Amino acid sequence: LARNPGEGEFHQAVLEVLETLAPVVTRHPEYTDQSVIERICEPERQLIFRVPWVDDKGNVQVNRAFRVEFNSALGPYKGGMRFHPSVYLGIVKFLGFEQIFKNALTGMPIGGGKGGSDFDPKGRSDGEVMRFCQSLMTELYRHLGEYTDVPAGDIGVGEREIGYLFGQYKRITNRYESGVLTGKGLAYGGSQVRKEATGFGTVFFTEQMLAAANKSISGKRVVVSGSGNVAIYAAQKAADLGAQVVACSDSSGYVYDGAGLDVDLLRQVKEVDRARISAYADERGSAKFVEGGSVWDVPCEVALPCATQNELGVEAARTLVANGVLAVAEGANMPCTPDAAHVFRDSGVLFAPGKAANAGGVATSALEMQQNASRDSWTFKHTEERLHQIMAGIHEGCATAAEEYGAPGDYVTGANIAGFLKVADAMLAHGVV
Ligand code: NDP
Repeated sequence: LARNPGEGEFHQAVLEVLETLAPVVTRHPEYTDQSVIERICEPERQLIFRVPWVDDKGNVQVNRAFRVEFNSALGPYKGGMRFHPSVYLGIVKFLGFEQIFKNALTGMPIGGGKGGSDFDPKGRSDGEVMRFCQSLMTELYRHLGEYTDVPAGDIGVGEREIGYLFGQYKRITNRYESGVLTGKGLAYGGSQVRKEATGFGTVFFTEQMLAAANKSISGKRVVVSGSGNVAIYAAQKAADLGAQVVACSDSSGYVYDGAGLDVDLLRQVKEVDRARISAYADERGSAKFVEGGSVWDVPCEVALPCATQNELGVEAARTLVANGVLAVAEGANMPCTPDAAHVFRDSGVLFAPGKAANAGGVATSALEMQQNASRDSWTFKHTEERLHQIMAGIHEGCATAAEEYGAPGDYVTGANIAGFLKVADAMLAHGVV
């Protein structure tokens, strides 16, 4: 704590991992002898830089940007960029730390990193977003490369932003290095299913978890929080598998739609019009908008928190349990507070931590890198099948590790141990570096 003052989210993420590793270090003293845990908690490199840009009124704006290159034991640093006013070093480090283990779980050759800026894209014109992205890349490009560090999207960074970042990288370097960014548009090296991957993957993991307990998602009521990239495609896949998705949200409140969410309308409102979620209820008779309300008050059997960290606290967890929730899968990174996660786990609710459940996004980013490296592009069907296999593999890896280390059915312990073992073994093999 004294080493990283004021970085609450980072402390929370580290504690969550370390408190599950006791059986591993007992069985493998070599990790302690080689200070693997101390090394894994310290980023290999952290960048903090100024991003000056000119707004539409001609005023100079100054933002701060970050890139934390956390661990390259398994491959080039890989992880998204987040644009949100709450971004500071502690958030980027928590996300980067989680990313190390998540990326290891996918079985793909990718290390862990994360970045972002306190830039708020809300209400900004396309021109402003472009000038901001160009200024950011004018510094960041020197630290990136398909063999070095490969950013992608996250909150506030979607295909539009990745396009502007890629255009500036290409211009500065005079290199068409497709594999330097993922989440690109299909016209210039993007992969089918990347946009859908995190949400789809979360639902595939949920399906596996329910199947292992002899249950199915079909016919269940599902509540999704957020209405961004992850939430939209989690809602779509859940509906495709026969669930009834009854609510979603944004930071202003939630929408309840008893007829089941109309995902096409949701996409129009959020992706095309870039409007607030209340606009969905304005367009749809069966829906009502509850301003300032908690989406977790809506009864459901499956809860998919897909908005942001610590959005689901202990009270909300108790409400969900009282309403009969069977499974919770974290589409977002660390959306449940530690106390909320304990409520679920202690109540026998199936609980999938983000580093396992939302790994489909980064896994498909790795598939995008693979296609870029081989100058190939795969069909939607083939890519979705790969994603499905990868999520089944992650589920299997977590379940097996949990079983082997004395915590059967505990996906939190299983995910942490399975991810840690991979990274730790690679670090041992590389020596003290
Ligand atoms: P988007 O920007 O597309 O959507 C974010 C959604 O969450 C919006 O509906 C937003 O509402 C809501 N939200 C954001 N901050 C808050 C807040 N402080 N309080 C309440 N609601 C909030 O982001 P993504 O869908 O890409 O990311 C969502 C989560 O999933 C994040 O935790 C991210 O790290 C994680 N994730 C994303 C991946 C991806 O591939 N995109 C991969 C793996 C994890 P509003 O517009 O009102 O702010």
